[in-house]
Amino acid sequence: MEVTFWGVRGSIPSPGPATVRYGGNTSCVSVRLTDGEIIVIDCGTGVRNLGISLLGKGFGKGKGSATLLLSHAHWDHIQGFPFFGPFYVPGNRFTIVGGSRNSEFLERVLEQQMAAQFHPVQSYRNMGAQIEMRAISDDGEVRAGVARITAHPNQHGPTQVLAYRIEADGKALVYASDVGYEKGGPSEETLAVYRGADLLIHDCTFTPEDKAQRMSRGLSSLDDAVEAAVRAGVKRLALFHYDQDYSDHDVDALVARGRRQLDERGAKDIEILGAAEGVTLAL
Ligand SMILES: [Zn+2]
Repeated sequence: MEVTFWGVRGSIPSPGPATVRYGGNTSCVSVRLTDGEIIVIDCGTGVRNLGISLLGKGFGKGKGSATLLLSHAHWDHIQGFPFFGPFYVPGNRFTIVGGSRNSEFLERVLEQQMAAQFHPVQSYRNMGAQIEMRAISDDGEVRAGVARITAHPNQHGPTQVLAYRIEADGKALVYASDVGYEKGGPSEETLAVYRGADLLIHDCTFTPEDKAQRMSRGLSSLDDAVEAAVRAGVKRLALFHYDQDYSDHDVDALVARGRRQLDERGAKDIEILGAAEGVTLAL
């Protein structure tokens, strides 16, 4: 399983000289299984560059297919949707999986941002590719080729967000962005979903100090990410979804501080990294 980061930022894109190393695009991660199956997680602005790379392959000729998983529908997770090139090539096929109550509701949420007031294409049905919407129930399961994908609801301020666990090729990847745990950290149910993952991509919007000073927006600090990784016994932790105001130096400091925290907790075996645009990890 190969995992590539296309957007690692939370809330709003933040391009500029201070963010060139980790990148300024919002949330998007792709997974390529050994049989070639492609799974995309979230459609922030990073999905545009993923689209460009896929157009050079079968997707440019209308022969591509992929499954897109949406954690939730906040802007930084769907704004790239109308700018994903492979959607505009007839013959390509996509299944979009999200956590809304039913497929019609999921479709309405995505369709709203395509309305004429917001985007000239007006409807995803005008884009050309075949797109099927499929709502997944809490703790539900879907298949994408040989991959078994389970979804688990986490709290995200006043709303909920889905964490996804993808198991394939004998490996497990967990994506848990935009989670804001209750006091006491992740629940046993949540930890069971993260347990033993080869890679946990976890929200790390803030330093603990900044989180304490911000309005409770239902997001994680470095402490929350480290806590989840240690208690779930994961092998690798990728910090993700950084605050839009954090520079590359700020993210470097988060990673170094996370390394120290893991060592202090006797979790030297857990590898930690800061997710960065364009980086591919092999699991
Ligand atoms: Zn977000």
